[in-house]
Amino acid sequence: MKPISRKAAKAKGRKWYFTGKPCPHGHVTRRWVSSSGCIGCVKAYRCTPRGRKSLCDAYKRYNSSPLGFERNVRSRNSPAGIEGAYRRRTKNPLTIECRRRNDRNRRDKPARKTWTKKYRSSPKYLAYRRRKYAVSVGRIDTIPT
Ligand SMILES: [Zn+2]
Repeated sequence: MKPISRKAAKAKGRKWYFTGKPCPHGHVTRRWVSSSGCIGCVKAYRCTPRGRKSLCDAYKRYNSSPLGFERNVRSRNSPAGIEGAYRRRTKNPLTIECRRRNDRNRRDKPARKTWTKKYRSSPKYLAYRRRKYAVSVGRIDTIPT
């Protein structure tokens, strides 16, 4: 990072400036032109519970505003957004584990179990199984409906 004064950065229309001097808390990082606030201080603040809450509140406000809503919809429907959703759905171990657990819970529900038991013993299902077996053995070519 090249040192640049706040005035010079402002003249160039930049958002950031960097002096190379430490802030009162000892951070040697970039600063905002608008407020001369130090990034290191903001990072430290956002790690505190209060700072995290304020950041979350800001995101909530933004996402519920018309601008944020439109922006979310656009990013979701863009190629990159679709790709990202696919990646989260299929590659994220947490998501996969969560979905597996949900499926298991749904399958192991008592109501579901009794429904399955009833369905498996119904004549309709038994006829279907018999036809499928016949096909697999080769007695008939296709499953008649
Ligand atoms: Zn600082």
